[in-house]
Amino acid sequence: MITVLCGGVGGSRLMRALANVLAPERLTAVINTGDDAWFHGLYVSPDPDIVTYALAGHVDAARGWGLHDDTFRWNAAIGRFGHETWFQIGDRDLATHVHRTRLLREGATLSQAMTDIARAFGVRSRLLPMSDDRVRTVVETDAGDLPFQRYLVERHAQDAVRGVRYDGAANAVPAPGVLEAIAEAEAIVVAPSNPIGSIGPILSVPGVRDAVSSSRATRVAVSGIIGGRSLQPPAGEMLAGMGYTVDVAGVAAYYAGLIDTLIIDEADAALAAAVQACGLRARVTPTLMRDASAGAALARVALAAAGVVP
Ligand code: GDP
Ligand code: CA
Repeated sequence: MITVLCGGVGGSRLMRALANVLAPERLTAVINTGDDAWFHGLYVSPDPDIVTYALAGHVDAARGWGLHDDTFRWNAAIGRFGHETWFQIGDRDLATHVHRTRLLREGATLSQAMTDIARAFGVRSRLLPMSDDRVRTVVETDAGDLPFQRYLVERHAQDAVRGVRYDGAANAVPAPGVLEAIAEAEAIVVAPSNPIGSIGPILSVPGVRDAVSSSRATRVAVSGIIGGRSLQPPAGEMLAGMGYTVDVAGVAAYYAGLIDTLIIDEADAALAAAVQACGLRARVTPTLMRDASAGAALARVALAAAGVVP
């Protein structure tokens, strides 16, 4: 079993790439649920849905989230009643949120709902939420404390970040199977996800960080920061706000003590020594998953760095 810690867009791209080079059944994803939120009475779980849609081959590749060819007529229609429409939910995507909310109201756990949705989409990898308990990523800004989606989607990550909290984490427990997936993994891969916004919440669940840092498996992370910037907000804004440099050295500093190897892009080869200064090995390779073959090449490098035979 290869266990992948992941968020949404970057996480799902690496999961898809890994599932293309080895049997998807060998993969377990532990997915960030810190940006889950209620909209219009529906429980929306953005990162798990992106991973599910990507593995099913249904993700909108251009956007990186949502279902391809989805329409947004429902979202526009709800605006007539004065409801907020900044968090866009597609017409077909809506069915996922209605179904999940029904399951939760009938007493299912988030894990059970996620398993059911993944099964319906034909996903063969195991998808686990980091916790069945509510953990909320809150971004502290000059405009006040903002729930993650409000900070990113409504306000476009424009507010300077002063702090980041994971509300509820102290009392959360890892979802069933999470600690086992980490402890029993032959390798642990940290996706090129937003370190503070997507991986930080997973690590904030009591027991998870210790499980990763004490694991005997080789731990490899892929940097989502390429050439001193993130491909999309708000990974860079959050790193900068929390005092890290927005480059692979900043990513290495954030993961120091947790992982063994950081895979960095060729554009950042000059910073390999700075990564090594954080106590990590640096592996330089093209990391942009611009198409399936580029993704597969990166997945093979990540697996090789982790000592896994595909
Ligand atoms: P979110 O939950 O949708 O914000 O997505 P994640 O946290 O999983 O991933 C966001 C990060 O993924 C960003 O910092 C991107 O730079 C990074 N990312 C997206 N696509 C790629 C890619 O092809 N290669 C690499 N190295 N990073 C990527
Ligand atoms: Ca996310």
